[in-house]
Amino acid sequence: MATNKLLLTFAICRLIVTVGLTLRPTELLRLGLDGQLSLDPTDMETASLDFGMMSRAEPLAVFHPASAEDVVRLVDAAYASVNGFTVSAKGHGHSINGQAQTSHGVVIEMSGSVKKLAQLSPLVSMEQEVQEQRYVDVWGGELWIDVLRATLQYGLAPRSWTDYLYLSVGGTLSNAGISGQAFNHGPQISNVYELDVVTGKGELMTCSEEQNSELFHAVLGGLGQFGIITRARIPLEPAPQRVRWIRALYSNFTAFTKDQEFLISLHGHPNSQKFDYIEGFVIVDDGLINNWRSSFFSPRNPVKITSFNANGSVLYCLEVTKNYDESSANTIDQEIEALLEKLDFIPTSVFTTDLPYVDFLDRVHKNELKLRSKGLWDVPHPWLNLLVPKSRISDFDKGVFKGILGNNTSGPILIYPMNKDKWDHRSSVVTPDEQVFYLVAFLRSALDTVIGGDESQSLEYLTNQNRQILRFCDDAGIKLKQYLPHYTTQEEWMDHFGDKWAQFYQRKMEFDPRRILATGQRIFKPSFTSKVASW
Ligand code: FAD
Repeated sequence: MATNKLLLTFAICRLIVTVGLTLRPTELLRLGLDGQLSLDPTDMETASLDFGMMSRAEPLAVFHPASAEDVVRLVDAAYASVNGFTVSAKGHGHSINGQAQTSHGVVIEMSGSVKKLAQLSPLVSMEQEVQEQRYVDVWGGELWIDVLRATLQYGLAPRSWTDYLYLSVGGTLSNAGISGQAFNHGPQISNVYELDVVTGKGELMTCSEEQNSELFHAVLGGLGQFGIITRARIPLEPAPQRVRWIRALYSNFTAFTKDQEFLISLHGHPNSQKFDYIEGFVIVDDGLINNWRSSFFSPRNPVKITSFNANGSVLYCLEVTKNYDESSANTIDQEIEALLEKLDFIPTSVFTTDLPYVDFLDRVHKNELKLRSKGLWDVPHPWLNLLVPKSRISDFDKGVFKGILGNNTSGPILIYPMNKDKWDHRSSVVTPDEQVFYLVAFLRSALDTVIGGDESQSLEYLTNQNRQILRFCDDAGIKLKQYLPHYTTQEEWMDHFGDKWAQFYQRKMEFDPRRILATGQRIFKPSFTSKVASW
């Protein structure tokens, strides 16, 4: 305890020296922070980097909160300080471009440290008969994998997911949170009942559709700009036991997208007449299909792409699943057969596997462990995620998959469509102006070493290729939106938000008037930046 106080005093002194915080250390100590303010080199290093490994910013201190009240006290101190300092909530740090970093203030580590406090563990409410009363209350820094584990104990689970579960609830709700269930249930931000949020004015507010609704919609997809999510109430449904996971190949892009669009158009049908998850990916070489998410294909029985595309051109893989349990085990085969019959994939190219629900949801983690063991996880990730309108997806195919990429990908390329009417237009997120749009995700990993004179895996090469893709779309008039957007000037952000910019700006002025939150997004400069050289 005494060591804690000493460290806290030390951290506060550093804040005073660096940003001229006007509180005396004893006064900040009197704020009664139960968590730990830290200058520990490991904490500082962790807060300075993210998954992208392309930007670095060292904070003045790292704070491990013990409660929502702790977050209130810290943000309130930042808001009230005469000279100002910034506050950035960090979930699991899986951003690409420093979105959770700050060099002029404190990073709040939302994930991890608070777990030991029982009152912050996921709390499941389960009036089984009433859908609205099946939900879980979770701490904003909770990882989705832990939400899943907690709710499965009650036979329940959230219904909308991300492909990877080691992401925090607050982090994905600040973006959208999408996966193959989004066509049916919408993104994760369409699946939230209620939030507790600490605004940039240091006020803890409960918000929902009915209560403080402006804040509720602002925060969902709000890139951390309006407040720090300390609690989220997530609806639950009965968890299926098993998953039938199916992949089928296409050589014809039009047939591939026609089938994907047909499958997502079934969202209003009874469960027995639609898939539960619809994604897809692009294959430009053999390596990808057998390595990425390799839990699907057996290493002893690798799939030979050449047997499906004689002329070596691009292939497309549809990926769908159907959930089931004991009560539906007898009918699942017929249901799947009836759906597959309507599709136009390459005959003989259907691959099926069957696994427990939790193993399917947690599938990417297996891949992470493999990449980690080969030293290929902690490498730069120049990812590019785009939302492309349906009307231009075939131009995108010709110009990018069959054009700019050549035969090189350096990582998986996901492609799947979603229905816009499953996204709430009142949230902060922006999507293309068409009823159906595609996620196209270039999930690239860069290598430090140039192998055999081939530079196509280098960070510079891949970053240039991303720029080339964006330039191509711009020149071709493809009105896409970036998902997990990254821009560096306010003009670019205004362009990104388009018609929604005025509302986004007005919400910022209302909920974070000093612009101290999530400055790593580089949308707004803090009000005190004239006093510091850069931000
Ligand atoms: P961080 O990187 O820590 O933070 C992201 C932003 O949110 C920052 O601006 C931060 O300040 C803010 N923030 C964090 N916590 C809070 C909070 N409690 N309240 C308010 N603001 C907060 N996304 C998908 O939609 N679908 C996927 O399938 C998917 N798969 C992924 C797989 C991998 C391997 C990786 C690395 C990322 C993936 N993503 C996916 C992207 C991911 O959803 C975002 O990067 C998300 O922000 C990561 O969550 P995080 O907890 O690491 O957030």
